[in-house]
Amino acid sequence: MINRDRIVQTFLELVAIDSPSGDEDAIAAELERRFGALGVTVSQDSYGNVLGRREGVGEPVVLSAHMDTVEPGRGITPVWDGADIIRSDGTTILGADNKAGCAVILEVIRSAIEDGAATRPIEVAISRGEEVGLKGAANMDYSRLSAKVAIVIDSGGPPSSVQGAAPYSFGYVVEVHGKSAHAGLEPEKGVPAITIAAEAVLGLPQGRLDFETTGNVGRIQGGLVVNAVPDYCKVEGEMRSMEFEKVDGLVTRSKARLDEVQSRHPDARIESTFAMGYPGYRLEPGDPAADLLFGVLRDMGMTPDPHPVGGGTDGNVFRGHGISSVVIGRGGYNQHTKDEYLVIPEMLDCARVVEAIVRRI
Ligand SMILES: [Zn+2]
Repeated sequence: MINRDRIVQTFLELVAIDSPSGDEDAIAAELERRFGALGVTVSQDSYGNVLGRREGVGEPVVLSAHMDTVEPGRGITPVWDGADIIRSDGTTILGADNKAGCAVILEVIRSAIEDGAATRPIEVAISRGEEVGLKGAANMDYSRLSAKVAIVIDSGGPPSSVQGAAPYSFGYVVEVHGKSAHAGLEPEKGVPAITIAAEAVLGLPQGRLDFETTGNVGRIQGGLVVNAVPDYCKVEGEMRSMEFEKVDGLVTRSKARLDEVQSRHPDARIESTFAMGYPGYRLEPGDPAADLLFGVLRDMGMTPDPHPVGGGTDGNVFRGHGISSVVIGRGGYNQHTKDEYLVIPEMLDCARVVEAIVRRI
């Protein structure tokens, strides 16, 4: 049975280990140790994600969370009076995003061992670098995951709070190669890469384009000194939409804009790459992960509350690798702020829902 004291204790111990993105070695080792102690066959893949497998009966299921946290996330001191809410002391985040997800997975396995309950084969996938662009999921060793369904425990609110739709994301890099020349003596011999890049930028998607589509020019680099015409400028950005056709249309329009700028500046060379960062999705009947989760929620008297989110999660990346994924709440609020807090009864509900999923054979 899911045990409140035990899961809370696990959570408090996990948040005591600092794990801002990029600094996950200690928490990865600790998670590996804990899963190993529960009989899970576990190791880190070449990127340092913690991947494990516990044998069982029937169709396997991936249980996933991420191990990294945002900043300020060092020296976290949880404040808890024994009641239902755990907060930070106000100087850092709490780290419920996503140590609560890790604690849920550990507790579900512990509970299964304690009860001697039959479960599906459980494939544990704890990613690094989720908060800095889903890096761990992008670099995960998918040859070690055989399940076609994943429960990603990484949303705010109760477990019935499900990410019902998430956007398609494309990223791009535009490089303008110009020609340098002395800015004071012979500027006419130069081809100013920054100025040409600026023309391109003005035509690239920016801001909220409609209710489900956004664009951002996020980074620009170029030039070395103020007295030389710059010969190089690099622009990086992204666009997202809930509809593939819309984001695909933005890619087409952006490329057309770059062609147009190129034709105005034949002495410059504009190179660009556009690539899908992750695919979007919308939960619909017939989706294996949604059917599994929604069935369990209803059986437990909870009403599934799918809602769209503007950001990607590891669930998007998993879907890109053919694993139907749902992202469920684990009781956190005010995520990514010093006001972050965890509602223990909702974390417990999350663990009970995940437990029911792995025991549904
Ligand atoms: Zn998270």
